[in-house]
Amino acid sequence: MFGKQLIDSDYIKCLNNLIMSAKIIDGKLLATKVKDQVSSAVTELSHKNIFPGLATIIVGDDPASSIYVKNKGKSAKEVGIKSFQYAFPENVLEKDLLKLINELNLNNVVDGILVQLPLPSHINSDLVIDSIDPSKDVDGFNVLNAGRIFIGRDGVIPCTPLGCLLMLRSVNKELRGKNAVIIGRSNIVGKPMAQLLLNEDCTVTIVHSKTNNIQEIVKEADIVIAAVGIANLVKSNWIKKDAIAIDVGINRIKLEGKNKLVGDIDFNEVKEIASFISPVPGGVGPMTIACLLMNTVLQCSKRNNIVLTDNLINLF
Ligand code: NAD
Repeated sequence: MFGKQLIDSDYIKCLNNLIMSAKIIDGKLLATKVKDQVSSAVTELSHKNIFPGLATIIVGDDPASSIYVKNKGKSAKEVGIKSFQYAFPENVLEKDLLKLINELNLNNVVDGILVQLPLPSHINSDLVIDSIDPSKDVDGFNVLNAGRIFIGRDGVIPCTPLGCLLMLRSVNKELRGKNAVIIGRSNIVGKPMAQLLLNEDCTVTIVHSKTNNIQEIVKEADIVIAAVGIANLVKSNWIKKDAIAIDVGINRIKLEGKNKLVGDIDFNEVKEIASFISPVPGGVGPMTIACLLMNTVLQCSKRNNIVLTDNLINLF
């Protein structure tokens, strides 16, 4: 009898763990779906003799940036987008960078121009980004596109927030009225993410490095997006039960002597509380690249006045 009770309680504990553990939002799988759609759109465009092209520009030899740019070029080719890669040494003159961007702006085979950030400190990043033709600004960082998104108009949506939005929609179609808290207020993630969720009728709060009582604010959220850059910052006691947690952070740490990639959310803890959670790696990262390809094809079709059969952004 005693033994059976033990088995029963172990069984219930195990069952509870299963029930309580969050479902994983598989960014790799979703990215494959997005890329399949992009690939179909590329085929559709090719039947009209239109071939989307993406130019990437990298300055310097930062290993992480080099990997990102290489992956972007490789993924572009996989879906049939032409990839043009430009690499400058760390000491490149700003005027030479601007000259290339101007040439790419005028080049009809190029539909998207991506400048990998950060740029060296002697280069004015704002000037460089704003020199990209807004219709080719596939990162959505140009001030004109940022402004359009800010007032809820049609503009290029930055890839990482777009990826997060698609991930959210994949697990919850009805975002209206949800309480969303975004941790981080950068121009490339936090702020556009807030705007996208406002456009979805969420109630949005941004918290940042100077916010008081951050944990209590995050604890109220139905949706938490963490974009900070601090490994495992968000613990389980920050999270409301059944919240959805999306982890943008990419942090390299040493664990038991090995290099490891982790997010801003303590995955092992938070997965026990949240209803859905995105992992790092394999979460927002692959979706960011997939959305870059999507933006390239969308901008290509817009520039050529083609209405694609499938509305890529409403995929999920
Ligand atoms: P950022 O450095 O520009 O901004 C970080 C933000 O975090 C700032 O707004 C700051 O106020 C806030 N912050 C700092 N310390 C904090 C704290 N203790 N509590 C709360 N907020 C705090 O960074 P970013 O460019 O927005 O990137 C954030 C993270 O996301 C980084 O790890 C970056 O590598 C990663 N990232 C990933 C992708 C992807 O594709 N997965 C894309 C972009 C950025």
